[in-house]
Amino acid sequence: MNPNIVVIGSLNMDIVINVEEMPHEGQTILGTGFSEIAGGKGANQAVAIGKLQASVGMIGKVGADSYASALLDSLKESNVDARHILTSPNRTGVALVTVNQSGKNHIVVVPGANFDLTPDDIRNQRHVIEQCEMVVLQLEVPMETVNCALQLAKEAGKTTILNPAPAKIMEEEMLKNVDILIPNEHELSEISGMEIADERSLQEAARSLLAKGVKAVLVTLGDKGCCYVDKDRFQLYPAHQVKAKDTTAAGDSFIGGFTASYVKNRDIDMAVKQAQIVAAITVTRPGAQSSLPTLEEVQRFAVDNA
Ligand code: AMP
Repeated sequence: MNPNIVVIGSLNMDIVINVEEMPHEGQTILGTGFSEIAGGKGANQAVAIGKLQASVGMIGKVGADSYASALLDSLKESNVDARHILTSPNRTGVALVTVNQSGKNHIVVVPGANFDLTPDDIRNQRHVIEQCEMVVLQLEVPMETVNCALQLAKEAGKTTILNPAPAKIMEEEMLKNVDILIPNEHELSEISGMEIADERSLQEAARSLLAKGVKAVLVTLGDKGCCYVDKDRFQLYPAHQVKAKDTTAAGDSFIGGFTASYVKNRDIDMAVKQAQIVAAITVTRPGAQSSLPTLEEVQRFAVDNA
């Protein structure tokens, strides 16, 4: 059986090194910790959805190395259909992350196989898109591949969700195929070319994207929550008050929570409610995929915070 939600995007191995102080140029220092953590925005969002027990599969590309098998295992452990992950002779994508004692980081991403995911790869798997209900994309694979996937999905009448991260300028041709755009405040500002200083400028920036053909914009605002804008509505939703420890994957978990609900109920308020719970739990825990909650944890949080 093919999945209801298809995530098309990146898979990275995050190689995390902990240090007391960041090294200066030319300096060699001793690290205090080392870990390899499954990541990549596409994989994080797919895992977030899988952990909430929604039917999800992923299209992406990994290399022919040991990181690839670890990343595939991580998807499968979280109920993500990994049959459509392709292999390239290149290396699997990696993110080299150095974190100091106060939590500040330096990150270098080497996209590797993620950048080998081509429009032809997507066309060859169009049956997966045609048999799903919703397609979720980010911008960590080539722009022409995202563009092709959006086009195929809309031709097949599917709902498309785009998380424009990392922020890049997008053609109107592409934006008109997006049903729900989910940027954070910084990404919204980059894409719209408008500064965001208050509620009014936020709304203006979101509306400028509606004018370019996006059907709705859902902006995440960190500990302030999120804001939904479509042609008829502007709605702010406050975040849950929690003690945030590590906001890694907050946005990915939000998108996972939103999609897993929206595919079932087609109700923005319900989907945002679940997204904010999933993200609130995620920020109270360290790590990316390891911090994503299960459906039971989300249900318990909803009861405890009713
Ligand atoms: P961001 O990507 O930082 O905009 O965050 C995505 C979502 O995570 C927000 O819309 C909130 O629902 C949630 N979130 C982020 N930071 C916090 C926080 N400190 N406390 C509660 N929720 C948060």
